[in-house]
Amino acid sequence: MLQCTFFKVTSGAMSILRLAIPSPLRRLFDYLPPASLDAAGIAALQPGQRLRVPFGTREVTGYLLGVFAESEAPATSLKRATELLDSEPLIDATLLSLAGWAAEYYHHPPGEVYPALFPKRLREGRPHEPAGEPGWQLSARGKGLPPGALARSPKQSSALDFLHAATAATTATLTTAGISPGILRTLHSKGLIEPCKLATQTPGPPHCHPGHELNAEQASAVQALLAAQRGFSCHLLEGVTGSGKTEVYLQLIAACLQRGRQALVLIPEIGLTPQTLERFAARFSCKIVVLHSGLSETQRYRAWEAARDGSASIVIGTRSAVFTPLDSPGLIVVDEEHDASYKQQDGFRYNARDIAVKRGQLSDCPVLLGSATPSLESLHNALAGRYRQHRLLQRAADAELPSIEVLDVRKRPLRGGLSEPLITAVQECLARKQQALLFLNRRGYAPTLLCHDCGWVAGCSACDARLTVHRGKRLLRCHHCGAGNPLLRACPQCHSRQLVTTGLGTEQVESTLREHFPASRVLRVDSDSMQGREAMAALVEDINRGEPCILLGTQMLTKGHHFPAVSLVGVIDADALLFSADFRGEERMAQLLTQVSGRAGRAGAAGRVILQSHYPDHPGLQSMLHSSYAEQALVMLQQRRESGMPPVGQMLILRTDCADASLGEDFLAALRSASEAALGRGTSLIGPLPSPMQRRAGRFRCQLLAIAHNRAAAQAAADVLVAQAEQLPARRGLRWSIDIDPQDLF
Ligand code: ADP
Ligand code: ZN
Ligand code: ZN
Repeated sequence: MLQCTFFKVTSGAMSILRLAIPSPLRRLFDYLPPASLDAAGIAALQPGQRLRVPFGTREVTGYLLGVFAESEAPATSLKRATELLDSEPLIDATLLSLAGWAAEYYHHPPGEVYPALFPKRLREGRPHEPAGEPGWQLSARGKGLPPGALARSPKQSSALDFLHAATAATTATLTTAGISPGILRTLHSKGLIEPCKLATQTPGPPHCHPGHELNAEQASAVQALLAAQRGFSCHLLEGVTGSGKTEVYLQLIAACLQRGRQALVLIPEIGLTPQTLERFAARFSCKIVVLHSGLSETQRYRAWEAARDGSASIVIGTRSAVFTPLDSPGLIVVDEEHDASYKQQDGFRYNARDIAVKRGQLSDCPVLLGSATPSLESLHNALAGRYRQHRLLQRAADAELPSIEVLDVRKRPLRGGLSEPLITAVQECLARKQQALLFLNRRGYAPTLLCHDCGWVAGCSACDARLTVHRGKRLLRCHHCGAGNPLLRACPQCHSRQLVTTGLGTEQVESTLREHFPASRVLRVDSDSMQGREAMAALVEDINRGEPCILLGTQMLTKGHHFPAVSLVGVIDADALLFSADFRGEERMAQLLTQVSGRAGRAGAAGRVILQSHYPDHPGLQSMLHSSYAEQALVMLQQRRESGMPPVGQMLILRTDCADASLGEDFLAALRSASEAALGRGTSLIGPLPSPMQRRAGRFRCQLLAIAHNRAAAQAAADVLVAQAEQLPARRGLRWSIDIDPQDLF
C-alpha cells in the first residue's frame, strides 16, 4: 500500500525524506536531506515542499510527503537530495491528503498524481514567485551592517534607514520617498538589499450585486444549503434546463464570499463559455480566476497563485482545476455534474466530480453538484442518503419546457438528412423571426467514402476505423488518431472514379441548408469551424443578438448554452444515439436528448423539439415523449440494480496497449489466472477481450473487466490485480493501465 498521507517528524539522528517522484512506479522514494541543510533546517521541513533530487541519470523535482527516522531501503543505497526548492510548503496538508487519497483510490503512481497540484513552471523545478508588487528589503548582510557604515553616501544611508524602519517597501513607495532606482541598484550590487514581493492590499469583503428574486423552488434549495454551509455535506441540485440552477450557485457563492471564504466552481470542458464568465463577473466585484486549457503558462501560474494566496475569491475551471490550492475553501460547485468530460480518459484517470466530493469532505465545506440530467451515480448516492437532493421542476423566468415530438422519417424523402416537415418547421421558425437549432453529433462532410464499383471503403491505416470526408479542407481524416490524407479522386483498388460518400456530417447538412435557405444565415458550430475560444465567444455574442438564423452543430453547440431566441430544436439523426454497445448508452442518450431539447424556448417563446428517427417506436425515444428525465433515470437505475452494473456494482478495467496483437491478451489471461484465487466471491472478471476498437493509432488494445458488489470489494480487487500485474513477466513489451470507475468501455 502507498503511504501517501502518513507524516511523522522525528528528532532522531537519521532523517529520511519520503518523496513522490515523477515516475510510473506505484511507490514513494526515500532520500537523505540536502547537504546544505543543518539539523534546524531538517527539523523545519514540511510536507508540500519541493526538492531537486537525482533520479536515474537525471535530476527531477520531488515532492516531500514526510520525514522519517528509518527507511526500508538500505542506508547505503540512499541518495542525497540536491536542493530544497521552497522555503515553505506551497500546498497545504488537506490538498496533499486529497492527492494521496486519489493515488490510492485510482491505483495510480503517486509520482504522477502529486505534480497535478502544481503548475508546469513549478513542476519543472523553477522558483516559486509569490504574487504581489515588486519591492525591496534588506538582505542578511544589509541587516548586519553597523549604523553609520555608509555615512559617506547619505542617499544610500537614508535608503537603508528607510528599509530598516519599514522592513520592506514597494518600488513605488520607495520612489515616492525620494529613493531613486539608481540608489537601489547600487545597494543591490553591494549585496545590502534584495528584491522581494509585497502582498497586494487585500480589498474589503467583495461586493455582490443583487440577483433575481428567487422563485419558491430556488429559494428552498438556497435555504437548505445555507443551513448546511458549515462543515461537509454533499448536495445534488436537479433542475430542469433553464430552471435557474446558475442563479442558485450565484447566491450561494455570494454567501460564501460574505463569510470570507473562496468558492471553487467546476464546469465541463465545452461548457466554459464566455457567457458563464460574464455572468459571474457582472455579479461579483471580486477577483475571479479562470483555469482552462487555453491559458498560457504564465496566465495559468498567476491564476494558480491567486487561488492559493486567497486573493482570488472565485476560481472557475475545468476538470484539472479540482486540484487548485485554495487559501480558505468555503464552497465547491460542480456544474453539469453528469458530464463525461470530468473523467480524464488517459494517464491519471480520475473523475473530477468524485474528487470534488472528497475534497469537500477533507476541507470541511459543502459540495453542490448541479445538473438537469444527473448521472445515475449521483442519483444513486442521493437515494442512499449520502447526498441531499434538491429539485427545481419549473423553468425560471416564465418559460415553459418545450414540447417534444418524434418524426418518423421512414419512406420520407430526405435531403441532406432533412425531411420536409423539419424543413417546414425551420421555415416557420424563421418567419416568426426566431432561431432554429439543428443538432448532429458528427463533424465533417460524411463518415464514409466508398467505391461504388468495387466496394472499397477508405479506412485508417493505424486504426480499426473509417476515415471521415472533410470536403472544405479536401481531406480524409481519422477522428481517432488524427491522421489526415488528401481526399482521393479515384479508388486505390480498382481505379474507378465512382467514389461516393455515405452518411452525414455537419459540413454536408450545412450545404443543404444553404441551398434550402439562401436568404438565411446558417451558422455551423463544431470543432472544425470553431478554432479557439475567441471564435466561440464571438459566435455566442452573435447568436444572442437574437437575429433569426439557423444554428447547426455538434455537442459543442448544445452544452450549457442559454440562447434566448431559439424556439425550434431539430435532432437530425436521433438513431445515431439508439444502438450503443456501452451499458451507459441509454443514460447518455436520455441526457443528451434532454440537454439538446433544453435549448428550445428558454425565454418566453414556446419551444418545439423534433427528433428525426427511423425507429420511432424505440423505447428510448418513446420514454423521451412520455417521461421526464427523472422518471427515466429511476427506471434505468432499477435495471442497473438488476444487472449489478454501476453505480450499483463497481467496475474497473485493466487495459493493455501494444504493437503486437497477442501480447496484451496473453498478459491479461496470465493476470486473470494469477489473481482469480485471491479475488473474493464479490468480484467477477470478464475477459480478456479485444477492446471495442481493437487497433488505434497503430496499437492493439485489449481489456480485462472486473465488476464488484461494492466499493470495498472493487478496491480489494484493484489491489490484487495491480500487485499481480506489476510482477508478471508477461508485462514486458506492453503498456498496461487500470481504470477505476471507467466512463467508457473503449
Ligand atoms: P439553468 O442553469 O438551470 O439552465 P439559468 O440559471 O441559466 O438556468 O436560468 C435560465 C434563465 O432564467 C436565465 O436567463 C436567468 O437569468 C433566468 N432566471 C433564473 N432565475 C430567475 C428568477 N428567479 N427569476 C427570473 N429569472 C430567472
Ligand atoms: Zn473501387
Ligand atoms: Zn486513425
